[in-house]
Amino acid sequence: METCYVLFGSNLGDREGIFASACLLINNRCGRVVAVSSSYESEPWGFEAEEWFLNRVIVVETGLAPDALMRQLLDIEAELGRVRHPEAHGYASRTADLDILYFGHRVIRTQRLTVPHPRLHQRRFALVPMCEVAPDFVHPVFQTTQTELLRQCPDTSVVRKVDATN
Ligand code: ADP
Ligand code: MG
Repeated sequence: METCYVLFGSNLGDREGIFASACLLINNRCGRVVAVSSSYESEPWGFEAEEWFLNRVIVVETGLAPDALMRQLLDIEAELGRVRHPEAHGYASRTADLDILYFGHRVIRTQRLTVPHPRLHQRRFALVPMCEVAPDFVHPVFQTTQTELLRQCPDTSVVRKVDATN
């Protein structure tokens, strides 16, 4: 069993409802969801979009191999209504994006999978929720904690915690 950190992102539709569905499907097919971060809203990053993203980290204990986990997550994304536009280069609005940030402390570089996620340390929207659920978790390549990665992150985009009483 490995502890995996999956980043959920959505900027279309009922974002919290889609998150809840994603957690149920992950729990059914990938392993046990043992924790989730609070909700964070983040400024669209790298492209212009109307809607801010909802970002949350999902902590999963899985017995699946990394490529099998990735396949399950891609299926779940598709079921949650993500439409991939082959003509759209780079970033686009999406109902659900599920990225593997960490798979235990494993370092994986295959055609379909790079873990730790190659841009995680450049993105406040990934580091801020990671710092909530696992501040002392050590990045297996950089050998620094999430707290330290966030402190060093040059990204200045806005990531704000959603007030749970709203
Ligand atoms: P992004 O999440 O970077 O905006 P996409 O979700 O469209 O982009 O990327 C999808 C592809 O990226 C997947 O088909 C997957 O095989 C590949 N990929 C490589 N490493 C990872 C990872 N750590 N997490 C999620 N997808 C990954
Ligand atoms: Mg993705």
